[in-house]
Amino acid sequence: MKLCPAFFAAVLLSSLTLGTAAQTPDWRTPAEISNYRTTPDYAETVAYIERIANAAPGQVKIENFGKTGEGRDLKIVIASKDGVFDPAAIHASGRAILLVQNSIHAGEMDGKDACLSLLRDLVISKVRKDLLEHVVFVFIPVYNIDGHERRSAYNRINQNGPELAGWRANGSNQNLNRDYMKAEAPETRALLKMFHRWLPDFFVDDHVTDGMDYQYDVTFGLDATPDVAPATAQWIRDTVTPELAARVNASGHLAFPGLIDLNDDTDPTQGLSFSGDQPRYSTGQMILENRPGLLVELHMLKDYKTRVTGNYEILRALLEVMNRDAAKLIAFNREADADAAKLGAHPLGNQKFPLAIGWNGENTPVPFRGYQFTRTLSEISGAMWVSYRHEPWNATLPMATGAKVTTSTTPPAGYIVPQQWVHVIDVLAAHDVTLRRTTAPWTGKVERYRCSGMQWQGRPFEGHHPTFGGEGSGGQPGRYGQCALATETLTFPAGSVVVPLDQRLSKVAIHWLEPDAPDSALRWGFFDSIFEQKEYGEAYVLEKLARENLAQNPALKAEFERRIQADPLFAASPRARLEFFYERSPWFQENRVGQYPVGRLLSLDGLPLE
Ligand SMILES: [Zn+2]
Repeated sequence: MKLCPAFFAAVLLSSLTLGTAAQTPDWRTPAEISNYRTTPDYAETVAYIERIANAAPGQVKIENFGKTGEGRDLKIVIASKDGVFDPAAIHASGRAILLVQNSIHAGEMDGKDACLSLLRDLVISKVRKDLLEHVVFVFIPVYNIDGHERRSAYNRINQNGPELAGWRANGSNQNLNRDYMKAEAPETRALLKMFHRWLPDFFVDDHVTDGMDYQYDVTFGLDATPDVAPATAQWIRDTVTPELAARVNASGHLAFPGLIDLNDDTDPTQGLSFSGDQPRYSTGQMILENRPGLLVELHMLKDYKTRVTGNYEILRALLEVMNRDAAKLIAFNREADADAAKLGAHPLGNQKFPLAIGWNGENTPVPFRGYQFTRTLSEISGAMWVSYRHEPWNATLPMATGAKVTTSTTPPAGYIVPQQWVHVIDVLAAHDVTLRRTTAPWTGKVERYRCSGMQWQGRPFEGHHPTFGGEGSGGQPGRYGQCALATETLTFPAGSVVVPLDQRLSKVAIHWLEPDAPDSALRWGFFDSIFEQKEYGEAYVLEKLARENLAQNPALKAEFERRIQADPLFAASPRARLEFFYERSPWFQENRVGQYPVGRLLSLDGLPLE
């Protein structure tokens, strides 16, 4: 039976301490005991962690942080060298907090089994005990527990083991890794509360890839795009990314410091595509939280032992870097929080805030260790297909590395949201954004959007029909139209919600309330009702309106006649011909179609706030 080096060391140490092998407790994890043929279900996972916590009560604590949709207990495990488990006390001690999330896609559970081994090596065998010197290690063994317990041999067609694996989505078939911004699932809401209680310094989300075949077993992505705080981004780019790759490689695994996504599914020579994170993803959410986020993707075609031990090594490597750079990391985070709290300080000035990031056209040639492949025309699909051979293909490929800001906004001092938009406000509250209410009606100048040209995606995506295309769009894709700003003097009733931007979570508010942001409330459909026309004119009433207009307004008459000449569909529709006059009347204006109800505040001064 082959065992991982960490286990071997654990047994060796225990043997030395306890004398005879017969008395040595077996601290192998369930996955190690099966030689990585299987992964434990949730009860067995928790039982192993509880056994460790009982054996090391001064260093390990298990806490519940909420319930899944199906009612299971969400848990975090805390490993702390001196038994200090209170987040405030840990922050005060100057130690950095690492939070690792496992099994958000519950068929991808490598990180869970890696964390069980790591926990054992931190506090039982103590072969890694030094990694707790300046860091407190917190992990979620299984985040998507309901998906994890939907075990089957047929959940992950691309993946090489273990025998049974969980399901990608949660109990209501929502992908939790698309829910961070809109925060609809009970799991997301519980996680956000827990996250803010702990306010970790570094966040990791463990996954397993889909996609092409190659030699690497560990791939990872760390955002250092222009929307990341500058000092953090530089540390990520210059230090963390190269060091993680080097340290993982030194352990005998093979790491690629990027997420391997092809420009062309059937032709790897076309290179690797750009990846940037939107707030619907865990690591995109971290940008709004002013924290570095590491996305780990183990390669699906490697055997389970290779993957779990590879996941172990990248977590070990990150803990090493964090232990060395703890003070630096804490300072970067403090600075990023302070900068975020200044976003509303120069309302509607020159400061541009990035809402979306894209590729700027720059490629970097990167050494790439793939496998030999052939491309053949398939008589089954009618398209090219790729088949890989397990012979190395060591090439240099173009990688789309250059990033630019594709959409931005000038932040206001804050937002004001009429209180009837309860679902929109509720999401901000779920994110722990500081909200205040007006105590009296307030009249003042605000900027307000009017939006048009939206099209809604035909098929549902995460339970919505958003105005963006993309994943799962199939059929008719969504399309975001445009929203134009105008300055107006408006009255907002008492009880309106004011969202000041002089707070740590200002970026969450901006991304949720600016329609142009990729995961805004408007794009997800939370404001769909503003696009509905609610009053209509009867034909005989509009006929009268049209005749009066034609008689009194020669310019309108000319426009109408031009339209009939130029637009056959219009000319052939009696209803459209009458609507032409209704849409140019004050009656239509009162429908307020596309009028965005949120105001952008020029200042917070003079607002009657509680
Ligand atoms: Zn995944």
